[in-house]
Formats: sequence, C-alpha cells, structure tokens
Amino acid sequence: MIGDKGVLITDPANSYRAQSLKMEISKLTKLPVTHIILSHEHYDHVGGTEVFPKAKIYAQSNTKSVFKLDVSGQAPKNIDQYFDDDYSIFMGKIEVDLHHYAAGDGVGTAIVHLPKESVVYSADMYASDEIINKRWISDSNFLGNRLILNKMVELKPKYAITTHSESIESYCQIWCMSHLFRRRSVDLLSPRFHL
Ligand SMILES: [Zn+2]
Repeated sequence: MIGDKGVLITDPANSYRAQSLKMEISKLTKLPVTHIILSHEHYDHVGGTEVFPKAKIYAQSNTKSVFKLDVSGQAPKNIDQYFDDDYSIFMGKIEVDLHHYAAGDGVGTAIVHLPKESVVYSADMYASDEIINKRWISDSNFLGNRLILNKMVELKPKYAITTHSESIESYCQIWCMSHLFRRRSVDLLSPRFHL
C-alpha cells in the first residue's frame, strides 16, 4: 500500500522473497517501505524484515512469546509496535486498521483492514477453494478462525486477500468459508458445541 511518504507491506516472508518484493515495489514508487505488518508469528511470514531497514514493524502482542523462541532464526530482532486488540495507522489519507479478534492461525493473528478501500487481509485461515490447508492445521484454532472469519464478513469487504492462494472477491465467499468452518468444527469437536 503506497502512502504519501512511504509504503506499507505485510509479511515479507523471508530474505529472498523480501528482495523480490522490494524490486517489484521499486517499479511502482521511489518511496521506501516504512511499515511492515506481520499477520502472525509463523516462520514463513516473519523473515526478511532486514531488507527494509527504514520500516517500523508491527505485530500483535501474543507474538512476543513465540518470537523469543525464534526456532528458524528468522524472527525480527525488534518489533517497534506491539498492539493488543485494535490499532490504526495513517499513511497520509489512507487509514489502515489492525484488528486482533482471536487466536486463529497462530496466536498473534492480525487482520489488516482498509475501511475506505474495502480491503481486508488475513493469513492462513482459508484459501480460495478450501477452508484449510493441511500445512496449517497443526497450529490453527478452529473456533478462533471461525470467529475471525465472521468478523471479517461483518466488515463487508469488497476484496479479501489471503495467503498461499489467490484472493477472493466478495464477502459472500468469506461467509461460505466461515460456514464450512462451522461444519468442520462441529465434525471435529463434540456435537455438544452449537456454533
Ligand atoms: Zn501460518
């Protein structure tokens, strides 16, 4: 997202991906990357921040305890701004809202919402054609994912951007994902749960 004075990105992933992202951004603007939002603490999202030395790094507070472990050696050495539930950043006239509704995929799940542009970004909770990918299942909280997806539906986004997958283009589709989650959760959890 290109603001007046800098660029905001999410999840640079790793040094290699961050370098190619930097190159792509340089085709669009001369402005530096000034803001990096980490969607959650998983190793495949949080590396490569060193490629953008001018950037302030934002993460949800629950990531702190996991970053300390830094199993893959990729976690950022320093987070400039932790937030708990809600946080807003202004990139000139563009408002970027960060929300933590629950632990979803990982514990420090952050949703990025551009209210005026009607865009919502979340990571690793659904793909364009499936609710969950086997790779994610080991650290996903189904009830949290369901709650987050429903919250995202309430935002009525025109565009929903996800990870490891193509984006989907209407909140109706997120609703479908959320509905599938419900059925899946009921299958996996006790039928006493009325979701
Ligand atoms: Zn993940």
